[in-house]
Amino acid sequence: MTLRVDVLTLFPEAIAHYATTSVLGRASQRDVWALHVHDFRDATSDAHRTVDDTPFGGGAGMVLRAEPILDTLVAHPEIARPLIALTPSGRPFTHDVAKELSSLSGFSLLCGRYEGIDQRVLDLEVDDEISLGDYVLAGGELAALCVIEAVVRLLPGALGNDHSSADESFSDGLLEYPQYTKPAVVRDLEVPEILRSGDHARIERWRRAQALRRTLDRRPDLIARRGGLNGEETAILVEFALVDENRQNG
Ligand code: SAM
Repeated sequence: MTLRVDVLTLFPEAIAHYATTSVLGRASQRDVWALHVHDFRDATSDAHRTVDDTPFGGGAGMVLRAEPILDTLVAHPEIARPLIALTPSGRPFTHDVAKELSSLSGFSLLCGRYEGIDQRVLDLEVDDEISLGDYVLAGGELAALCVIEAVVRLLPGALGNDHSSADESFSDGLLEYPQYTKPAVVRDLEVPEILRSGDHARIERWRRAQALRRTLDRRPDLIARRGGLNGEETAILVEFALVDENRQNG
């Protein structure tokens, strides 16, 4: 099944350029996903193709008018649902949200600009709102591309045979273990001996211990969300002497 993604934006070329490059480009050539970009400026009827106006109630900046966006939706009933607006007020985008979207047959992303989108578009047509994080971007395009890339690389066939998203950060609620490549020594820093031992079962356990230790140190909230460490996880930290006596939970 090909995932259909529609993007409503004032910068179609920015979306199309990135989406046809690298992993996303190859995945669309393999029909893993299909992009449909809609410039809602095309739905304007005035000579200046105006998409924004001053805010009711006063205040700085301009607001995206409702009609060009609503008219784009009317002109293209095939646009995939749910329609998701990228807004700083939306629910935070996480691996779990990416997984949720990757299980759909399609979805659409609405990119705001200026001070944002007339609330009536959100009330009338938008099914969901997603935020990339607690900061403000100039527009929804980068956020849309982040969502698309995180979702598409979870789809079967997106990464080719030799790559996998299954043991990456967040896939099992943990951050990833450290990765190394050749040469074995860089500025006197050696690759951990165990990774050159050929003992794959022990390497597997070492990686898991490293992932647990890193997550405990950097993102204890992720460990708490999994309900803390279980007995096997504590044992694996002990096996590799990664227990921090001064910390709770490992
Ligand atoms: N006035 C808005 C506010 O304070 O929430 C910010 C508008 S922002 C300058 C313009 C557009 O960028 C937004 O409509 C949204 O589409 C996008 N945007 C900005 N920050 C974002 C974020 N953290 N996540 C998702 N989209 C964002």
